Amino acid sequence: MIYNKVFILSFIVVGTLLLASCSACNSSKTITKDSQESSTIMSYTQISPEFDADSAFLFTKQQVEFGPRVPNSAAHKACGDFLVSKLKQYGAEVIEQKATLKTYDGISLDARNIIGVYNPDTEKRILLFAHWDTRPFADQDKDKTMRTQPILGANDGGSGVGVLLEVARQLNETSIDIGIDIIFFDAEDWGQPNYETNYVQGDWYCLGSQFWAENPHIPNYRANFGILLDMVGAKDATFYKEGYSVQYASNRTEKIWDVASQLGYGSFFINKKGGYITDDHVPVNQLHRAPSVNIIHTSEDSSHGFGEFWHTHNDDMSVIDRSTLKAVGQTVMEVLFTEK
Ligand SMILES: [Zn+2]
Repeated sequence: MIYNKVFILSFIVVGTLLLASCSACNSSKTITKDSQESSTIMSYTQISPEFDADSAFLFTKQQVEFGPRVPNSAAHKACGDFLVSKLKQYGAEVIEQKATLKTYDGISLDARNIIGVYNPDTEKRILLFAHWDTRPFADQDKDKTMRTQPILGANDGGSGVGVLLEVARQLNETSIDIGIDIIFFDAEDWGQPNYETNYVQGDWYCLGSQFWAENPHIPNYRANFGILLDMVGAKDATFYKEGYSVQYASNRTEKIWDVASQLGYGSFFINKKGGYITDDHVPVNQLHRAPSVNIIHTSEDSSHGFGEFWHTHNDDMSVIDRSTLKAVGQTVMEVLFTEK
């Protein structure tokens, strides 16, 4: 994923006022994520089963142990097979959508979107998605000699899938009345690296989701709404209301941030609009498969708008924090289980 450059500047400038104006943090509910004491004053009663952050952490680690999951590599194939087997283990009907996708540098990728379907006969559907491939280049790494090497992508790739595998495990244990489709999109992160000076015009990120949005796994598929998880595992992550999410799925964005706040995760889900990010939810929104919200970690402290680990070799398991996985996973679960 990448920031839409037009918006990055305004995001950084506006963001400097952020801490002074958290309208979600009213006086009766000043809840911090580490405080047991303050959580006891909450009046909201959680409906969803308890999301297990240890489990999500393990699922993230298991992906990272394959090494970089770069399309056309043996590690990518092996991790894909692992994801298929986990979804099947957790009771999903699994569809593997294979496609040959062309990159900005003319490489043909053997790509695979992995789709886990729950309650296939139910008309009302919610789409949950994340990308499972990892970036072939560490083009933001401080060490210039390492920039052409692929990243481990513990957070960028691994964390979103890790959280959704835990959701899948939960759905196998507690039935739900609505239909749920979990999609692990491939080939999200092969966008042109910024060290290349010959810019190739085109939409080179999100190749797997672009393909699926044009060729859904079920003809004329439409979901009620969708949630994308991207970089949802870093310690002290901050999730702003992403620009396209507000544009295409305003009500859903508000609901998710409200639920997070009610559950006590307002320090992660910042009640403020963020920048526009080109990510898998853009083709899903624009081709009307589902009005979709991107829960993605953005930062005001970096020049590129993301966490310092982004597209570097630092994006390993040391970045991943169970508290963040829990905040995101429990919020998603609560959204699902409060949906009628
Ligand atoms: Zn990325």
